Amino acid sequence: MEFFGHVIDGAEVKSAGGETFTSVDPYTREPWAEVALGGPAEVERAVAAARRAFDEGPWPRMGRAERGRLLHRLADLIVANADRLGLADTRDMGKPISQSRGNDVPRAADNFRFFADHARLTTAETLPMDSGHHAYTRYDPVGVAAAIAPWNFPLMLETWKIAPALAWGNTVVLKPAEDTPASATILARLALEAGLPPGVLNVVHGYGPDSAGQALTEHPGIDRITFTGESTTGRVISAAAAAHLVPVSLELGGKGANAVFADADLDNAVNWSIRAIFTNAGQVCLAGSRLYVQRPVFEEFMARFTAAAEAMRLGDPKLDTTELGPLASETHYRKVRGYVETVSDEGGTVHSGGLGDGWFVRPTVITGMPATGRHQREEIFGPVVTVTPFDTEDEVVALMNDTRYGLNAMLFTENLSRAHRVSARLRAGTVWVNCFFIRDLRAPFGGVGDSGVGREGGTFSREFFTEPKAVVMQIT
Ligand code: NDP
Repeated sequence: MEFFGHVIDGAEVKSAGGETFTSVDPYTREPWAEVALGGPAEVERAVAAARRAFDEGPWPRMGRAERGRLLHRLADLIVANADRLGLADTRDMGKPISQSRGNDVPRAADNFRFFADHARLTTAETLPMDSGHHAYTRYDPVGVAAAIAPWNFPLMLETWKIAPALAWGNTVVLKPAEDTPASATILARLALEAGLPPGVLNVVHGYGPDSAGQALTEHPGIDRITFTGESTTGRVISAAAAAHLVPVSLELGGKGANAVFADADLDNAVNWSIRAIFTNAGQVCLAGSRLYVQRPVFEEFMARFTAAAEAMRLGDPKLDTTELGPLASETHYRKVRGYVETVSDEGGTVHSGGLGDGWFVRPTVITGMPATGRHQREEIFGPVVTVTPFDTEDEVVALMNDTRYGLNAMLFTENLSRAHRVSARLRAGTVWVNCFFIRDLRAPFGGVGDSGVGREGGTFSREFFTEPKAVVMQIT
């Protein structure tokens, strides 16, 4: 079995007592990697290393151009190691290799390139004042950032946090999800190869509650916490951050609504709606898991949508041809299975799909589910979609907003006025019109309600990972 250690202060290390855990490949359902199991002791060492690197090391002082050069070199190494990195996520959590290597790895490299360039090219405000003074803003690094990541897009989401933190001159301690440790260690090894100084990027593996994750978020030496994960965990982490008055960014769960109007380009709507719910087996915070279709096109849409869902290729996620892999772990499979098995209890019907072999759930389409049913209200986080007909624009806006989440929404229409009108009325951090998942890294990303607190991306990440400082000068 391959071994993945912590990376602390520039070296890959084991835990003090030699404790380890295994990562299980959800396709073979066998352990494939042995991983160092960290706890408070390893967190202590990592935070101390990150603090030293920030207080005494060259990283915050070297200037954005030089930091950017090193981060671009890291991006080059990520691309050069795409096979290893992609396979690590695929073996850890069952994501098809075409998605991990083909999408997540290039995106991880782009996260570093984007934030390196963004930090270098950013401008700051100068405010001429009537009183014979002027004021200007400095964006200074804050110190040590703690990053806590989930298992559904391991490398991609970890780099989405690490890249802006580093580009702005901070140092980082990352706690990856226990189900997906491998790519984080590979990334930290590559960061050292790229020339990032020791202690700038540290990785501690371990569990969340009562373990490494909790120790990290409760550590008094942390200056920022950036967390992506479940809303319930977000509440716990928010409380931990409050104890030290540490700013926290929370990217939490979702229950994405997707409306297809009768005037939509149906080919386009079917294509994106399939990808919105079945990419990564629905284990996507943004998944379009509540689909609403206007009644005049309901039957036709359903026929095309179901046919496309049934045509998806399930299988070994290591094969380039596979479109849908198993769910990420046995625990998660059992959770999603629980939803599939209770559809009729809640008043709905499994229109197509259902349980597969092993930890597979086939692309599952549910109809007739009442708006109050658990399947319409809770984040299933699997390849399971409810489809509901609607008549009017007002009705569908009310249905889409009827959720405690508010991460994203999608709508398909060829009517320009409707597109703007409905987008404005939806309570969500991102609205996609006639598309899905298209990102501009300058745009704000985050959610409302139980989907999170704060925004990341471009200047939003800058605000979070820096202390904006006003300098007021007398001119004469
Ligand atoms: P969890 O909240 O279970 O875990 C996320 C991370 O937090 C893991 O590293 C976990 O460790 C750690 N953790 C758990 N409890 C604590 C604690 N008390 N203190 C500190 N750390 C802790 O989320 P999942 O990994 O299950 O991820 C899926 C969730 O993430 C879904 O709800 C999904 O919607 C959301 N998500 C949101 C996104 C967004 O941008 N809004 C993007 C992607 C996912 P361990 O692995 O050991 O449990």
